[in-house]
Amino acid sequence: MDAYLNYAAQFLGNLGNYKSFGDSKFVPRLEPRQLKALATVSKETLEKYEKFKDLIYAGNDVAKLHLGYPSAGHVSTYYPASPHITKEDITGVSDFLESKKLLPENTRIRKTGDGFEVLIASASTNPSSEERDLKDSEWTLDDGKKVKLVFGDHSKEMSTIAHHISEAKKYAANKHEVDMMTEYATSFRTGSLQAFKRSQKAWVQDKGPTVESDIGFIETYRDPHGIRGEWEGFVAMVNKERTQAFSKLVETAPKYIPLLPWSHEFEKDKFLSPDFTSLEVLTFAGSGIPAGINIPNYDDIRQNFGFKNVSLGNILSAKAPNESIPFIKDSDLATYQKYRDPAFEVQVGLHELLGHGCGKLLQETSPGKFNFDNDSPPISPLTGQPIKTWYAPGQTWGSVFGPMAASYEECRAECVAMALSCEMPILELFGFEGGIHGEAGDVLYTAYLQMARAGIAALEFWDPKSRKWGQAHMQARFSILRTFLNAGVEFCQLEYTKDDLSDLTIRLEKSRILDLGRPAVDTYLQKLHIYKATADFSAAKRMYDEITDVESFYADLVRPAVLAKKMPRKVFVQGNTVEMGDGRVELREYDASNVGMVRSWVERGYV
Ligand code: ZN
Repeated sequence: MDAYLNYAAQFLGNLGNYKSFGDSKFVPRLEPRQLKALATVSKETLEKYEKFKDLIYAGNDVAKLHLGYPSAGHVSTYYPASPHITKEDITGVSDFLESKKLLPENTRIRKTGDGFEVLIASASTNPSSEERDLKDSEWTLDDGKKVKLVFGDHSKEMSTIAHHISEAKKYAANKHEVDMMTEYATSFRTGSLQAFKRSQKAWVQDKGPTVESDIGFIETYRDPHGIRGEWEGFVAMVNKERTQAFSKLVETAPKYIPLLPWSHEFEKDKFLSPDFTSLEVLTFAGSGIPAGINIPNYDDIRQNFGFKNVSLGNILSAKAPNESIPFIKDSDLATYQKYRDPAFEVQVGLHELLGHGCGKLLQETSPGKFNFDNDSPPISPLTGQPIKTWYAPGQTWGSVFGPMAASYEECRAECVAMALSCEMPILELFGFEGGIHGEAGDVLYTAYLQMARAGIAALEFWDPKSRKWGQAHMQARFSILRTFLNAGVEFCQLEYTKDDLSDLTIRLEKSRILDLGRPAVDTYLQKLHIYKATADFSAAKRMYDEITDVESFYADLVRPAVLAKKMPRKVFVQGNTVEMGDGRVELREYDASNVGMVRSWVERGYV
């Protein structure tokens, strides 16, 4: 029964029997005959068991254990009833539609006897040519194959969604929301992605709403071809207290940025806060829930209207009951558990707003024109000499730093957070008083412990075969752990007595954060920042490669200890809202358990 409930909860959490993160199949940990025995509760379930048993269990066909191109034997629902559609077929049709400027996110492709049908998700099976994004709907390719647009894919669902979106419009808070709902309804009814893009333009202009929502075919991770979208939708609410702390942080930024280890020449004249909100999710429908979102993905909307950068607070802080916390000493556990969420909140706010928000790129903006005093260039705090490098005309941060840029910038933002969380007035903005010996000190200590712990756990995301880091933030956190350790055993040390490091813990001295920890972070941050500001890629690469190099102690001893303690990826039990009939709405929540997961779905009316 437990094995069945585990499977059911995983299935519901991933919206199917393939992991949403990794696209590999999972199967029940019970014998087919046992599952069949459970299915005998009714005639219908027994019929369903017979229908689906081969799709549930692994079988002998290993290719079917992964989502991917059907021609490689993998499973994909983007190419229905088309086991023989080749990668070349998919590329051919997709490129043709791109040349016609038809967006692909809400499409699927079916191979037919004389060509291909492009299935478009829409309530209407026959939208008029004025309503469609393309007037034509049938073509013959150079090789004689036909391409035909077929509307009405997922017609029943799209019709329900379009109807309810139109109803939701009655409760819109402003004109942007009215426009957004109108365009959503049009898009879901007719299959027009141009209407969807208009909905997203309205969405980004609806800044800081109390209730935030977005819905559509958005991310393209699950299509093996990487262009067709997966349906998702969410409703979330602004956490007012946190938002207030964040806006105070932005207001006071001009006071705190000068405390970072560089002079004003390496800083923007006026602080501009990046777009960032922290939300609490009410419901997130999709195959998995991200910890943050940065959409829309359409570049023209991002450039002309902006985008929203959102972190999902209650996803980040969600914990399983009795979740173990490896690498933290027993003596630190109570403090750690009490303050890890607030410490993370301070860390996220500083990272996103001041970390990514601070700093200037020194540029020759056009030939002979500079955004700094080129006659007497700023003095580098690293060398005590005038700077010798800067961005040439046409060069950008991304073009100079290339693939290293993402992790390096995350590292810079994390270090800004580590440095500024030592400022007691900042901790007071978040409601923590008492300085280093009070609650503020506990939050600071927990923030440092959390970073050190993340630096150890990061090794899971380092691949020993390629000797490469797979995750930008994790590589950054590993380097910050190394920075703590480099500050000396008086500040931080990894402790263990067993050869397999199974009792590995972090010793970090709270009383030395201000006089040893922060200076070590400042020294590292100064290099990160000045190299970035002055386009000194070679010095940056030399330093970052060295500090994120995984030496044999970490690769052969620490990493296996990390993997041994690895927690399974979470699935999230979500609450439901129920109309009470008297104008009230009740929020119903469920146990963080397999049964709670199933119950949440049953009461939503889906199962
Ligand atoms: Zn970041």
